[in-house]
Amino acid sequence: MTTLNSRVPKGPIKDKWTTYKDKINLVNPANKRNIDIIVVGTGLAGGSAAATLAELGYNVKAFAYQDSPRRAHSIAAQGGINAAKNYQGDGDSSFRLFYDTVKGGDYRSREANVHRLAEVSANIIDQCVAQGVPFARDYGGLLDNRSFGGVLVSRTFYAKGQTGQQLLLGAYSAMNRQIARGKIEMHNRHEMLDVVLVDGKARGIIARNMITGEIQRHSAHAVVIATGGYGNVYFLSTNAMGSNVTAAWKIHKKGAYFANPCYTQIHPTCIPRSGDYQSKLTLMSESLRNDGRIWVPAKIEDAKAIQQGKLKPTEIAEADRDYYLERRYPAFGNLVPRDVASRAAKERCDAGYGVNGTGEAVYLDFASAIDRYGKEQAKIKGIENASDARIYELGQAVVEAKYGNLFQMYEKIIDENPYKTPMMIYPATHYTMGGVWVDYNLMTTVNGLYCIGEANFSDHGANRLGASALMQGLADGYFVLPYTIGDYLSDDIRTGKISTDTKEFEEAEKTVTDQLDFFINNKGTHSVDYYHKKLGKIMWDKVGMARNEKGLKEAMSEIKALREDFWKNVKVPGEQNEMNPELEKAGRVADFLELGELFAKDALDRNESCGGHFREESVELDGEQKGEAKRNDTDFAYVSAWEYKGEPADAVLHKEQLEFNDIELKQRSYK
Ligand SMILES: Cc1cc2nc3c(=O)[nH]c(=O)nc-3n(C[C@H](O)[C@H](O)[C@H](O)COP(=O)(O)OP(=O)(O)OC[C@H]3O[C@@H](n4cnc5c(N)ncnc54)[C@H](O)[C@@H]3O)c2cc1C
Repeated sequence: MTTLNSRVPKGPIKDKWTTYKDKINLVNPANKRNIDIIVVGTGLAGGSAAATLAELGYNVKAFAYQDSPRRAHSIAAQGGINAAKNYQGDGDSSFRLFYDTVKGGDYRSREANVHRLAEVSANIIDQCVAQGVPFARDYGGLLDNRSFGGVLVSRTFYAKGQTGQQLLLGAYSAMNRQIARGKIEMHNRHEMLDVVLVDGKARGIIARNMITGEIQRHSAHAVVIATGGYGNVYFLSTNAMGSNVTAAWKIHKKGAYFANPCYTQIHPTCIPRSGDYQSKLTLMSESLRNDGRIWVPAKIEDAKAIQQGKLKPTEIAEADRDYYLERRYPAFGNLVPRDVASRAAKERCDAGYGVNGTGEAVYLDFASAIDRYGKEQAKIKGIENASDARIYELGQAVVEAKYGNLFQMYEKIIDENPYKTPMMIYPATHYTMGGVWVDYNLMTTVNGLYCIGEANFSDHGANRLGASALMQGLADGYFVLPYTIGDYLSDDIRTGKISTDTKEFEEAEKTVTDQLDFFINNKGTHSVDYYHKKLGKIMWDKVGMARNEKGLKEAMSEIKALREDFWKNVKVPGEQNEMNPELEKAGRVADFLELGELFAKDALDRNESCGGHFREESVELDGEQKGEAKRNDTDFAYVSAWEYKGEPADAVLHKEQLEFNDIELKQRSYK
């Protein structure tokens, strides 16, 4: 059995990372030329890691299933990236970012990692600016900031609603420089289907060329997994359609522990589901909560009339609106963290106050912001007695400048003008805080096998604060892994090339081809999507925003039964030796069907409510916090790291006890 050692360095928290870097082993530049590293995934985490490792002199082989690193899911990130620069002079600091992140994660993250993240956050902005990332600037030319949920300062750097895209273009150009130099060998349109271990160390992968179907062996001295999150286990999510758990799950099966699978983020501001034939949900960025106010009708009869299409939101008087976040959480109002905002929307909709035909939507209204900005602009421009129409026009221009592309996207999807009618939003699966367990070095429980970005269990505990995923992915790739991996590789300078002509590669390749052959030859009755949708429904209904023991037990047995049916009756058309998206999906859904059961098992084990994990059995029964989630630090202040033992139900739990020496554990109140 592998032991769980987080390898957190000793010493005061503010010195740990610096002292550690001063003491770890380095690989000299000449020796780096003899060392190969595989990086699977070229989103923000993998792209930044690949570029930096190659810049350092290692030979990098990078893999992605898209036709270009530019198309990784990271491109979808809209709102921004956090950094403790204190450009606003509003009292921000590394410590405050560290504190907010640990608190926001409901005290379920590793202090030392989060502190390091806060420390390097400022470097990320400098690095990206140097690459030419066009962050928004204020009128004086300095980088601008806005606020995201769960914090009381403005520390979010952004590039309109395209922050992920612009950051990815930065990482991509850094990669391209290395591709041109021959230091990165880029394998687009290749999917990793297994990892290869030799003498207990990760020494390569098996990949499928998705155009030709060719199965390939690739060797290296270390393997880095940067393959993103597993939110698509719910079928419907805001993730890219291709996002999947396969690489993370395959390494789990080879010995990497999987941590906190039940920690999922359900984002409060997504465009509501419209029907049964939908395959994707769309996020409306959290940044909109800076200016949008969330409400539902205060009277149930108004809500019913709206649901039946007999009343319009603009016809409801101010006094008859329930701005429920402002009412329940006066300190943070519309900027409470995502888990809190999502549960509050569900509570109102479950009580019958939802505002669309399905009863699963609340309003996000910009009327007050338009009015406020309009009046401000009229003053600035010296317009006296401006008419309502003029004020509206001026205010709309400000809102458009800030969020124009998001409004345009909403209008295209819903066919309503959100400047005039409030947007409708509802929570949707968005991000997974759980993932592959890693130590302080970002190494998994398998030697030489690293995991970065959303794919690892990361620094966000039970709930990620907005704009912190990009920060973590880029911190891992640009500033943490390039140091820590060198410490491990310093032992490998005499190893020489790793051969792929060995029994370990042969066995892994056979496992991969056997599974592909099975899918092609099974000739079952149901499509892959049939199973994926059924899995998603079980997950959303029983392992979604609110969970209880009965539902979780049912979910485990229903997922197991669904999995057994999948392996008997799945139908995959086409051939192996050709481009075959159904075949790709089959492998991914097979892994989701195992992960889903472990996910429910983990949620069942954690009989407390924390962050995005809400157990109906664990709520505050009285006092100011009545009805809010109740955390249990006495019994559950640990990371759950699951060891694979065949069936997901048989997975063995290892606990990493969390120690809080620098932050006092408190009830997370946003009142
Ligand atoms: C709509 C949306 C908006 C968001 N907005 C923000 C925001 O404003 N701020 C913020 O901080 N976060 C945001 N997030 C979260 C953030 O975008 C992600 O957490 C982050 O981009 C993940 O980056 P990554 O590099 O870990 O993974 P990804 O970007 O998902 O990249 C995964 C990579 O792995 C590759 N891959 C996967 N599996 C395999 C395989 N088996 N073989 C080969 N390659 C593989 C893919 O090709 C891809 O290159 C948002 C998320 C969504 C869904």
